[in-house]
Amino acid sequence: MTFAPHGKHLIAGQWVATSAQFKSEPAHGSPHAFCVGTPDLVDEACKQAEEAFWSFGASSREDRARFLDTIAEEIEKRAEAITEIGTRETGLPEARLNGERSRTTGQLKLFAAHIRSGAHLDIRKDEALPDRQPLPRPELRMMQRPIGPVAVFGASNFPLAFSTAGGDTAAALAAGCPVVVKGHSAHPGTGEIIAEAVHAALKSCGIHPGVFSLIQGGKRDVGQALVQHPLIKAVGFTGSLVGGRALFDLCAARPEPIPFFGELGSVNPMFVLPEALAARGAEIGTGWAGSLIMGAGQFCTNPGITVVTKGAQGDALVTAAKAALEAAAPQTMLTEGIASAYREGKARFDGCAGVSALLTTDSKERSALPNLYETELDTFLGNHSLGEEVFGPLGLVVRVSGLEDMLHLAKTLEGQLTATLHMDSGDRDAAKFLLPVLERKAGRVLANGFPTGVEVCDAMVHGGPYPASTNFGATSVGTLSIRRFLRPVCYQNIPEGVLPADFA
Ligand code: NAP
Repeated sequence: MTFAPHGKHLIAGQWVATSAQFKSEPAHGSPHAFCVGTPDLVDEACKQAEEAFWSFGASSREDRARFLDTIAEEIEKRAEAITEIGTRETGLPEARLNGERSRTTGQLKLFAAHIRSGAHLDIRKDEALPDRQPLPRPELRMMQRPIGPVAVFGASNFPLAFSTAGGDTAAALAAGCPVVVKGHSAHPGTGEIIAEAVHAALKSCGIHPGVFSLIQGGKRDVGQALVQHPLIKAVGFTGSLVGGRALFDLCAARPEPIPFFGELGSVNPMFVLPEALAARGAEIGTGWAGSLIMGAGQFCTNPGITVVTKGAQGDALVTAAKAALEAAAPQTMLTEGIASAYREGKARFDGCAGVSALLTTDSKERSALPNLYETELDTFLGNHSLGEEVFGPLGLVVRVSGLEDMLHLAKTLEGQLTATLHMDSGDRDAAKFLLPVLERKAGRVLANGFPTGVEVCDAMVHGGPYPASTNFGATSVGTLSIRRFLRPVCYQNIPEGVLPADFA
């Protein structure tokens, strides 16, 4: 089944065309024309979202859960066409798109179950103490309430799970917040078919159409107008440090500043502890290479840096990683811009004093091959850019003398989405030595695994100190991510019957 996009925006239930057009740049097949978004459309979508908030924000948890379940069903009805347009636009393989679709629908259903349980409301109650001296205490109740319309910027590297009806949208809708999506220009057709699914769910559930709009991009003024619109109360974003920071700054400079939940960049360091290195260094090296090239390295949790001791055992890890990377086939990157950013990132390492190239490759057009570099602690500490994310399959090994060096390096790291320890039982003391630093630097610390692969569940944290995210108290994956779009309200002495129904 071939999906032919019509190229329009979805504004509060209406498919709307604009005169200017941009062409998609698919990895395979012919480009399609899409309407360019405008600030006027942003204004219309935000006004409709605000109007919809008065009913949707106060809707029952069951009504919203049914809506989320129905979006999942409507996405599944279009499964084949979604995979077809998704693979065409992004170059990602069919199996990946199918897996990502299941993750997306699973996420929607998880949020439906989460709000049905009421866990997100975090209800608290302090009974009245009328006889308390010297002053009586009133009755106080607290509950989390939705904040209002939310803007979502889809991610290029997750065209389904972090885009139009991805995690940010699912969390916001579950909370009771209408959503205005700025479609990613790397996959506008995939965005359109997912918007069709949301539209169908809105109609069949009888939800106000202003609850969801999709505005295709084409020009940067769409995103800028969206984050600055006075009716938008928060932003969910996954993308580059430069783009995310620009939008974050716009949010902070508004007359009414709003939270910008950006997930920006991370190099996800791995620390290989001595016993694990002695027992299975080569195995860890091969596993690292596999994680590094997964999805052409275009994962935010891609483990770009491995910290390992000098000497023969460390050499065995590096040799195994190099052999596995050498055997890797070229992979298609998501966009030409990302492929050229990968080449620029690699150029930073080539010829850098104190950095040896263990494997260098030439990547042409939109394809990428892995690259592997090695350096020592002092060089790493003296060159900030070696610790910056290169989006793609590029690995850096930092050779150190021992545990103290590992601690020193960890202390200098910027915020990370993840940090990994490879350890055996004899490494427990070393792990306890590093953990207080790693937990301060990363949103997720893991042992004996690879950080690519983010479970969508209650305990997941996909965030971390800046620049991993712009708001270190938040996660963009898992049920806790709903808290980004909720606000605690205290109700003092408000009588039963007047209180929100969720207190019942
Ligand atoms: P991006 O360039 O930051 O774009 C993300 C979204 O923000 C797009 O919708 C884009 O609009 C919009 N945008 C970016 N800068 C803007 C600005 N100044 N004003 C208004 N809107 C703006 O990210 P990307 O295209 O997805 O990927 C590019 C790079 O991002 C990659 O090379 C990689 O370094 C990084 N990346 C990181 C992660 C991660 O998880 N850490 C994930 C994906 C990408 P347009 O659609 O018009 O471009």
